[in-house]
Amino acid sequence: MAAHYDAIIVGGGIGGGALASVLARDGRRILLLEKSTVYEDHVRGEWIAPWGVKEVQRIGLYGTLRDAGGHHLARHITYDETRDPAVAEQTAMPLAMFVPDVPGPLCIGHPHHCQTLFDEAVRAGATTLRGVNITAIRPGATPEVTYQHNGREEVARAPLIVGADGRLSETRQAAAITLHQDKPHHWFTGLLVEGAGQWPDDLQAIGTEGDFGFLAFPQGHGRVRVYGGYALAQRQRFAGTEGPRHFLDAFAMTSSPGNRFLVEGRPAGPLFSYFNNDSWTDEPFAPGTVLIGDAAGWNDPIVGLGLSITYRDVRIVSDILKAAPDWAKADFRPFGEERRERMRRLRFAAHLQAALDMEFGARARARRQRYHDMMLTDPSIGLHGMAVMAGPETAPAEIFTPEHRARVLGEEVTA
Ligand SMILES: Cc1cc2nc3c(=O)[nH]c(=O)nc-3n(C[C@H](O)[C@H](O)[C@H](O)COP(=O)(O)OP(=O)(O)OC[C@H]3O[C@@H](n4cnc5c(N)ncnc54)[C@H](O)[C@@H]3O)c2cc1C
Repeated sequence: MAAHYDAIIVGGGIGGGALASVLARDGRRILLLEKSTVYEDHVRGEWIAPWGVKEVQRIGLYGTLRDAGGHHLARHITYDETRDPAVAEQTAMPLAMFVPDVPGPLCIGHPHHCQTLFDEAVRAGATTLRGVNITAIRPGATPEVTYQHNGREEVARAPLIVGADGRLSETRQAAAITLHQDKPHHWFTGLLVEGAGQWPDDLQAIGTEGDFGFLAFPQGHGRVRVYGGYALAQRQRFAGTEGPRHFLDAFAMTSSPGNRFLVEGRPAGPLFSYFNNDSWTDEPFAPGTVLIGDAAGWNDPIVGLGLSITYRDVRIVSDILKAAPDWAKADFRPFGEERRERMRRLRFAAHLQAALDMEFGARARARRQRYHDMMLTDPSIGLHGMAVMAGPETAPAEIFTPEHRARVLGEEVTA
């Protein structure tokens, strides 16, 4: 006998847990299927941009994340080998200025974030299962999911299957939705550091020196999530048992003196490396299915927006569903159109940021110097950063053009 629901959500990470919470709070019968039994640190997103925090507020989950220990950052500093650190610190950016009623980005550890949303979905009345092995996903006119749980095979039916199952989405494959990907740009390695209590709790920083670019986002209580970017040719750079120590040593930079607190810290989790790129789908839906979060295509993590993107997906998809009398006929075209332009703009911003921060050598160094100098007299050159902090729709359309890219990088316009 098949069990019947209003929607089956495949994947209980950020997107799945959030959507299940929102829809179950609205009185819908939701089945949330998560394959892991414990959320582990895979070095994923822990920084929600101000516009993403606004999305969290709009779907009613802000209090949940704050109660779970989510904490705001107040200042951003961009260090660079071409800048005097004192000047960088004098021009620290206040992070409350981007979105009304949002004090700044919100940080919360990824496994804890997933568990918090999963617990919220339980509290809201969703049927939630962990340790699930999905054996078949059948979208189409009569959507159906077959899965094994506690040694039994079960079948669930609903008018809609939501694919919230991340980058390797089986739902996307089952619905034959094509994923486009661009070329990797750099390696991106992350680690949680503890014992870095002297790094200010409210300060995020980025910087580039030599052949390494860093990012640091404090998580509170002396813990800082750090990332490092380096050239694709250096694949083995932090391999082996000494990798985490070598990685932290790479943060020693004269242009960012406070990094010594990170170097003195201890690894508090695994070291994972990813190659950074962008991906997208033309239409993140098909009959009987809609995709949210990474399953629908992800943005290069260099600008740290996957969580914000996912929360906006949850907001738009849940609004469409709440207004739809029949979920089998829910019209996701407005979601597809908004997401296409959103991802195009964010892809542009990420490409530009990656070219600035994660390219190395004399030419890249001169380019950054020129950019930072120009920023002091003409901040409009950094307007693509508005897309990252305040949301892609807040920056003027002319920012997302070859002309703006050429202006930022000091290069000839190329189509
Ligand atoms: C190195 C790195 C750093 C990042 N940093 C940031 C950052 O600072 N800020 C930010 O906003 N974003 C960041 N991101 C991106 C962010 O982590 C993701 O965009 C976000 O986690 C996407 O959420 P999701 O729910 O779509 O997918 P996921 O978080 O990947 O969750 C998917 C869930 O589905 C489950 N699942 C998968 N397959 C199945 C299946 N067959 N059956 C059942 N369950 C299944 C998984 O177990 C998982 O729980 C980063 C990404 C990387 C790689």
